[in-house]
This record gives sequence, structure tokens and C-alpha cells, in this order.
Amino acid sequence: MFNLILFGPPGSGKGTQSERLITKYGLKHLSTGDLLRSEIVAQTPLGIEAKKIMDKGQLVPDEVVIGMISSALDNNPNAKGFLFDGFPRTVAQAEALDKLLKLKDTQINAMISLLVSEEELIKRLLNRGLTSGRSDDTNEEVIRARIVEYRNKTSVVADYYKQFDKLAEIKGEGSIDEIFEALQNEIEKHMVV
Ligand code: ADP
Repeated sequence: MFNLILFGPPGSGKGTQSERLITKYGLKHLSTGDLLRSEIVAQTPLGIEAKKIMDKGQLVPDEVVIGMISSALDNNPNAKGFLFDGFPRTVAQAEALDKLLKLKDTQINAMISLLVSEEELIKRLLNRGLTSGRSDDTNEEVIRARIVEYRNKTSVVADYYKQFDKLAEIKGEGSIDEIFEALQNEIEKHMVV
């Protein structure tokens, strides 16, 4: 299996690049943001609770997203590998993911982090808000709160993978094609052929 984490702040381009990467490498895309938004659309109790938190720009509780990822792993027993997008977002989530993968005799091969300036992130997110229909993209205060959550709770997750020599950082500014190219170069370094 090849398991990759695409990492970076909100608006860094994880979703866009994930779509291309899953096609190229045949990975199963697991985005906790997308999974949560499906729960919201279906108006499940989990979705209703999560929406209140997401609309404030805060992180939903670890046990909620860990449970979702655990089910997704169980539901895809034949996957060639997974691309995690928007997960793990806390060290507790990273530790839980390691345990879940270990139970399946596999592990994270690499984390690639997309580096983008805060100014650019805010611009991209406000712009995305014009068409995404996402309530958390339309309000600058909520966008700033998401970036603060990232800084306080999520950015340390990169250090977690760095200690195992699994972290690579690439520039997340430039054209979509250029960034995709840089991602492929990084991935191929970590893939055993
Ligand atoms: P973005 O990265 O652009 O903010 P996402 O779709 O990844 O978009 O996440 C949207 C929101 O969903 C987050 O602001 C957070 O409230 C919630 N969320 C998504 N993934 C997680 C996670 N792993 N842990 C906690 N909350 C999460």
C-alpha cells in the first residue's frame, strides 16, 4: 500500500491537488471535510453538531473524525492506498491514525505539506466562498479563526511526521500544474517501485 497525507492550512490547495493525485496513483481519497459535509447534507445528528463547530471555524472533536476515518478504512479493504486530506489535524489524530493503520499492517509513507502565505490563503478562501456554497468560506472572521486553529493545533502535526523522516515541504504557490509536478516528484521519491 502507499498512504499519503496531503497537509497544509485551509486554502492551501489540498482538495484540488488531491483530485489529480488520486487519479494518477489510484489512491482512495479520504477528506474529513468532505465526509463531514456529507453528514451535514444528510442532516444526521453528527452533521448537525459538526456544522455548528465548523461555522465557527473550529475543529470538530478528535473522536468524531477518528471514528469517521476508522469506518472509511474498514469500508475500503481493497484500496491500493489512501490519500488523507484534512486529516490528521491534531497530534491525537495522528497517533490514532498510526494505530489504525498498524492494525491493517500498513503505515503512512509520506506527508507532503503545501506552504502558502496567510495573505494568499485569505484571498483564495474568500474567492472560493463566492462559488463554493460553503458558509465557512464567506466570512473573513471565520476564515481567520480557521487559520488560527491551524497555527495552534494543526501545524505541529508536521513535526510529528518529521521525527519519523516522513515530512516533505513544497511551495503551494504557483500554477496548479507546477504544484502537481512538484508533488509527483516528492511522491515518487517515497514510492518503492
Ligand atoms: P479547509 O481545510 O479548507 O478548512 P476542510 O474541508 O478540510 O476545509 O475542513 C472544513 C472544516 O471541517 C474545518 O474547519 C473543521 O471544522 C472541520 N474538520 C475537517 N477535518 C477535520 C479534522 N481532521 N479534525 C477536526 N475538524 C475537522
